[in-house]
Amino acid sequence: MLIKKNCVVTSQFELFDKAGELIDSSAQGGPLEYLHGAGELLPKLEAALDGCEPGARLTVELGVDDAFGEHDPSLVEAVPRENFPGVEVIEPGMRFETQMDDGSPMLVVVTEVSPDSVTVDGNHELAGRDLRFELEVIDVRAATTEEVAHGHVHSHGECEH
Ligand code: ZN
Repeated sequence: MLIKKNCVVTSQFELFDKAGELIDSSAQGGPLEYLHGAGELLPKLEAALDGCEPGARLTVELGVDDAFGEHDPSLVEAVPRENFPGVEVIEPGMRFETQMDDGSPMLVVVTEVSPDSVTVDGNHELAGRDLRFELEVIDVRAATTEEVAHGHVHSHGECEH
């Protein structure tokens, strides 16, 4: 079966940055499984997979603009230490959910800690990086009607709708 809209695709992958450093892989977190055509993947990555069949191997190179965009310095902010009540230890690399000025949630990562302030970065962790995906398609199946309606894969049974 070829990958087309409303297929569930399972793929092994390795993700590298421009320097060839391994960022993530299916060996670490399990295969990538997604609903094709639902916008779950970066558009160029999804487009490259379109029409592939199980066993296909492909390399997809994405420049910053096709990946997660440039690193935006305005999303890096030093906030007072007392903005983290109840958190005893704050260290670089910790993640928090915070609220933007408009009230929408934003995930930030701590990049620096001083005695009275904490620097957080709201950029996507892959912002500003060129990416290279090495993929091997393992399985392609038609999505169920329910999966299509929900816009995501149900094979792990964790759906709560
Ligand atoms: Zn669902």
